[in-house]
Amino acid sequence: MSYIPVSRSSALRERLPQSLKRLAELAYNYWWSWEPEAVALFQAIDPIAWDQVGHNPVSILENVSYDRLTQLMGDPHYLKQAQQVFEKFDRYLASDDTWAATQASGLSQENPIAYFCAEFGVHESLPIYSGGLGLLAGDHLKSASELGIPLVAVGLMYRQGYFRQRLDQSGWQEDYYVDNVFNRMPLELVCNEQGEPITTQVLVRQRMVNLQIWQAQVGRVRLFLLDADRHDNDPIDRWLTGHLYGGNQETRIAQEIVLGIGGVRALTAIGIKPAIHHLNEGHAAFCLLEVCRQEMQHSGKTFYDVEATVREQCVFTTHTPVPAGHDVFSSDLMDSFFAQYWEELKLSREQFMALGARRLGDPWEPFGMTVLALRLCRTANGVSQLHGEVSRQMWAAMFPRATEDQVPIGYITNGVHASTWTAPLIADLYNEYLGRDWADQAADPATWAKVDNIPDALLWERHQILKERLVAHARHRVCQARQQRQEDVSQIRAIDHLLDPKILTIGFARRFSPYKRGDLLMRDAERMLRIFQRTAQPLQILFSGKAHPADEEGKRIIQRVMEWCKHPDIRDRVVFIEDYDIHIARQLVQGVDVWLNNPRRPLEASGTSGQKVCFNGGINCSVLDGWWCEGYQSANGKGLNGWAIGENANTNDQAVQDKIDSDSLYHLLETEIIPLYYEQDADGIPHGWIKMMKASIKSNCPAFNTHRMLMDYVQQVYLPTAQVESKLSLAKV
Ligand SMILES: *Cc1c(COP(=O)(O)O)cnc(C)c1O
Repeated sequence: MSYIPVSRSSALRERLPQSLKRLAELAYNYWWSWEPEAVALFQAIDPIAWDQVGHNPVSILENVSYDRLTQLMGDPHYLKQAQQVFEKFDRYLASDDTWAATQASGLSQENPIAYFCAEFGVHESLPIYSGGLGLLAGDHLKSASELGIPLVAVGLMYRQGYFRQRLDQSGWQEDYYVDNVFNRMPLELVCNEQGEPITTQVLVRQRMVNLQIWQAQVGRVRLFLLDADRHDNDPIDRWLTGHLYGGNQETRIAQEIVLGIGGVRALTAIGIKPAIHHLNEGHAAFCLLEVCRQEMQHSGKTFYDVEATVREQCVFTTHTPVPAGHDVFSSDLMDSFFAQYWEELKLSREQFMALGARRLGDPWEPFGMTVLALRLCRTANGVSQLHGEVSRQMWAAMFPRATEDQVPIGYITNGVHASTWTAPLIADLYNEYLGRDWADQAADPATWAKVDNIPDALLWERHQILKERLVAHARHRVCQARQQRQEDVSQIRAIDHLLDPKILTIGFARRFSPYKRGDLLMRDAERMLRIFQRTAQPLQILFSGKAHPADEEGKRIIQRVMEWCKHPDIRDRVVFIEDYDIHIARQLVQGVDVWLNNPRRPLEASGTSGQKVCFNGGINCSVLDGWWCEGYQSANGKGLNGWAIGENANTNDQAVQDKIDSDSLYHLLETEIIPLYYEQDADGIPHGWIKMMKASIKSNCPAFNTHRMLMDYVQQVYLPTAQVESKLSLAKV
């Protein structure tokens, strides 16, 4: 392959003494982020600065003083640990006995999977994600790396990423943006043999836009991020990759052209010929057109003659269970952005527009990205069993000759990357009791069956420490926020009695989209207050999450939660942590007793935060939606490995549904959750609770991890003959 990343990591090496030079290499590979010993190496350099720079190891190494470096050089304990990590890193990169080497020999490094997504949540130091979609993509890359699956990823490098959140005195969300300083991030510009950046071009609004390509390394997987912020572009075009999910429809279509069309061209420019293009959500669907165009150019055939070949190479995952959530572009917008492009495909306007029309023959149909993807991909899948069903229903109109269950959309349920989300204290227990390869064997139920061998007292002790850590972190964040808002000194001092690690602790954190009902618990104020004010068996809850800047209703929900945080009777028991990100998510999922999720069914396609909780012994209390329909186990109407809110009761009246679900939640809290937690022995150990923690670990961890998910993708989607339960060929429609 004809690319050499300009080595900024070697410039960083120059700064470091001989025995520590390899820290620079480590800093440029996100492998470190899921290896606790590697994290500890960077943190130990300067624990305070580590937090200040957002856990970015490149920043740490750039700023560390010569004085401190010589201290570390003279510290045999540090050097030994560093040596061990370097050796583990080498073994990791060199190992060729991966799962894919034996189970997926049909895939090759020469022709990798190309995985396209508008956002990637790899780590908090690479803030180019907004929520679940990005986090799933990040975990996908990590498991692909570990399993040795040949995969490269394509996304956008946003100059300012997603917006940042702060709340004003009245609890109203203020949005602001912070520049990403690319030069201080673990990114390399992809260059040619002459050391010049490799670029590619796309036509946007009648102007050629030059794109450069950043590379982030995630274990063995390369993540390519396109960037329009170059001197040779028009000032307006430089902002094409400015913000994730910002701007209007015009920005959106332009960004999706950069991602889809630019992404395919970038891979060509780098010299990568993918075997499969995986479109993770419809944002990248224009990539299909470009694959067609290149194939036509290559073979001299017409669009309709290459269509079948292209379909063999393209697969699609849909993530949105509501029609309004799928990107569609008006025909005006399509005219102004694609008039030249359909000529290159030698299609008429009508033929071209039909590719994105849900119903053929309707000239007013807007152009749908999901429709395009369903038309031109070999397989399509939703992200949980229920979401698969909902998707088949939603897209049935495209397949007039098929019954609903013949609609060719299957499902592969989401998971999470075990080592990323498991707290080091718990991972340490797993090492001892499940075996050191527990994370590699995460998809095997036999691994998790051994959880029963962990003594209750030991598991509880570690869990309590993590809860204490969460309380301390929450106090710190709330203190910062109150200082920022210039609140009264008494308010700032009050953080000393905010939350208590001994109390039953609930967490609720995710995007504040109205369908997620962030304030459902507060629906009946009196009843909720009664529950919170039980002095013998108290309860506390932590909230975190952002509302999209254009989502007024989401912002109002946050404001209502903030009112409860100030309520004189419960202000020590309800907390909102501002500016939700991966770091806060990690603290929360590792420290809570109960993870609450109460979306409107069936709007949660899968959800993954509750899965992260399972790996740490937290217990889910959730509406039976998304993954929880598959995870929840019960006997005689009682949960064995968690709780189900509202069972399967469903109505179309939202107010009625909210009442049913909130009543059910109160009832669960009063009669099951709170009593079980406070049923503790003389040493304060709740054996019944711990039994449920263990049941949750044993049943959920083997199913809802990305190793299992990636194996499913390989076997059901990526391998050339694979088909996710698709019973009908789209070509015939
Ligand atoms: C896991 C995660 C999400 C997704 O949470 P859901 O409950 O699936 O919506 C969103 N944001 C962050 C930062 C996460 O870590």
